[in-house]
Amino acid sequence: MNQEERLRNILLSSKLGPITPFFGLVKGVCECGKPRTDKHKPGKHPRFGGWQNDYSTTDEQVVSGWSVQFPKSNFAVISGIDSVVLDLDIRAGKNGVSELEALAVAAGLPLPQTITVISGSGTGAKHLYFKVPPICEGSAACKTVHSGQ
Ligand SMILES: [Zn+2]
Repeated sequence: MNQEERLRNILLSSKLGPITPFFGLVKGVCECGKPRTDKHKPGKHPRFGGWQNDYSTTDEQVVSGWSVQFPKSNFAVISGIDSVVLDLDIRAGKNGVSELEALAVAAGLPLPQTITVISGSGTGAKHLYFKVPPICEGSAACKTVHSGQ
């Protein structure tokens, strides 16, 4: 993927809600310089403290600037504001992708087309992003569903 395609994808992700830059990987090593541990997942943590308030945005100029300033950054969509994420893991004995497909078939409904991220794990796991429907704004029932309770 070239830089233009990368920026287009990053800007597309910002349509789902505020995004924030994460550290990236350079030759498999986290840009922060720390080694992989149980608590440190390379390339999977925010670049900035205070990211929730001071370093998250949907502003295209800011996002474009970050993509130039941090060309190896990963970017994370802050979910639960404008979008929700369905995380379809594939692990030993569990396949969230095929289970969702089976549910759709059983319901007789096609899976909606949406922004889908293929996990970097290489297992085929996916993250499906959905906009929060306007009907859910301020709805306690929707919040219960979104929080997984
Ligand atoms: Zn790191």
